[in-house]
Amino acid sequence: MVRPKTEEEIELLRINGDLVSRTLAEVGKLVAPGVTTAKLNEVAETFIRDHGAVPSFKGFDGFPAALCMSVNDVVVHGFPSDRPLEEGDIVSVDCGTLYKGYNGDSAYTFPVGEVDAETRKLLDVTKASLYKGIEAAVAGNRTGDIGYAVQSYAESFGFSVVRELEGHGVGKQMHEDPGIPNYGRKGHGARLVDGMTICIEPMICAGGRGVYLARNGWAVHTADHKNAAHYELTVVVRKGRAQQLSTFDYIEKDGSIKF
Ligand code: MG
Ligand code: MG
Repeated sequence: MVRPKTEEEIELLRINGDLVSRTLAEVGKLVAPGVTTAKLNEVAETFIRDHGAVPSFKGFDGFPAALCMSVNDVVVHGFPSDRPLEEGDIVSVDCGTLYKGYNGDSAYTFPVGEVDAETRKLLDVTKASLYKGIEAAVAGNRTGDIGYAVQSYAESFGFSVVRELEGHGVGKQMHEDPGIPNYGRKGHGARLVDGMTICIEPMICAGGRGVYLARNGWAVHTADHKNAAHYELTVVVRKGRAQQLSTFDYIEKDGSIKF
């Protein structure tokens, strides 16, 4: 049985959610052809530490960086690198913070310069599928209702859903129960209760849903090397409607940034 969070815990998760959201926006301002993901990682780590928090991914199971930077056919868990981003790439930036003993965790896939229409659609549909999942994250529903909402939406556009990885509860630990799959059946899975804090994170492929793990043991690639997108928000389950503890508003509502 998953313990719902207290209001004090939810407030600390909200502070972390706000910081990861602002960190993603700082990174997003710099995403452009010619920039390296190593540079973006450095900016994010400095920003997180300047706010008195710790980048929680760094050292997690040996992960070497503050951000997961997953370019094109890398679904998640890519390492930042010295390869400059190129026009038409997409990059999933996944950010985690630890502040006052609680975790923040969110991700956004940025287009690099202009991307082709099919890629733009993949980004839009993946992000919309996340919001469909959030709509289903209400007290009394089950995790399968979230998975069903994400899957049915993404697949209706001909895209496919990665099944090997999923969202999760979040609190003092970065990954807590329950798992939040991005596919599933209505009415199945763990019951959602008021005060439960979860990360919903669809990973959606332009082609088939098969994936493999790179030899470094981290980067997850699509088997057909077509693009994959990944968006993640933290929410608290409530009766009627979940509340977001992280947001893309800093990325999308600043007039200078258009993603
Ligand atoms: Mg994440
Ligand atoms: Mg996560």
